[in-house]
Amino acid sequence: MVKIFIDPGHGGSDPGAVGNGLQEKNLTLQIALSLRDILVNEYEGVSLLLSRTSDQTVSLSQRTDAANQWGADYYLSIHINAGGGTGFESYIYPGVGAPTTTYQSIIHEEVIKQTNFTNRGQKTANFHVLRESNMPALLTENGFIDNANDASKLKSASFLASIARGHANGLARAFNLIKKPTTLYKVQIGAFSNKSNADSLANEAKAKGFDAIVLLRDNLYKVQIGAFTVKENAIELANRAKNAGFDAFVYQE
Ligand SMILES: [Zn+2]
Repeated sequence: MVKIFIDPGHGGSDPGAVGNGLQEKNLTLQIALSLRDILVNEYEGVSLLLSRTSDQTVSLSQRTDAANQWGADYYLSIHINAGGGTGFESYIYPGVGAPTTTYQSIIHEEVIKQTNFTNRGQKTANFHVLRESNMPALLTENGFIDNANDASKLKSASFLASIARGHANGLARAFNLIKKPTTLYKVQIGAFSNKSNADSLANEAKAKGFDAIVLLRDNLYKVQIGAFTVKENAIELANRAKNAGFDAFVYQE
């Protein structure tokens, strides 16, 4: 189990950087929550803790204390830049080596790939969250809130989602996270211990225009006429098969 601590910068009484009608604390929270959802829904073997999940005031010490007490394997702090500039940069603590540098390179590259942000480079800084965290740590600065062009991107929910996607892809690569298998909705019209019975039902279904196959599963010959990632499509096919006189049902695998 890989334990990843996600730290949306600022919050509560500390808005962080502001500009173009945006507040940094809101953007970092949206990115962090989206990142959490991607990792929870799509990957296994990963455990997450967030420094905040709403608009709360959390001090820097409270953040690093929480990560240290939890025993996180990685600390990821998410921020939005300000002060004149454009694009993406990331920070690690000065003088640290691998694996912190490797993780930085991978995550940095994946965020750039997903966002097409101008690449401002991989940097070092003596920031509290990088210095006081007991595990490899990274702080990302995702665009400039006071730059009109960056800000217009940051106003789009789908762009924030692509920032989250970039971080997720980077974490998955850095920590070799395993993708959860996608659920398939399969339409079955019969199951037999005798193969020839299954074959004859399959032939009957084919004669009526269904794309039937016979699969051996759990010592049974199952006649399947379709498999879908979208449940509604499986239900629609099952209904069509029922209307054609088959005893069809949908199951998940
Ligand atoms: Zn910040």
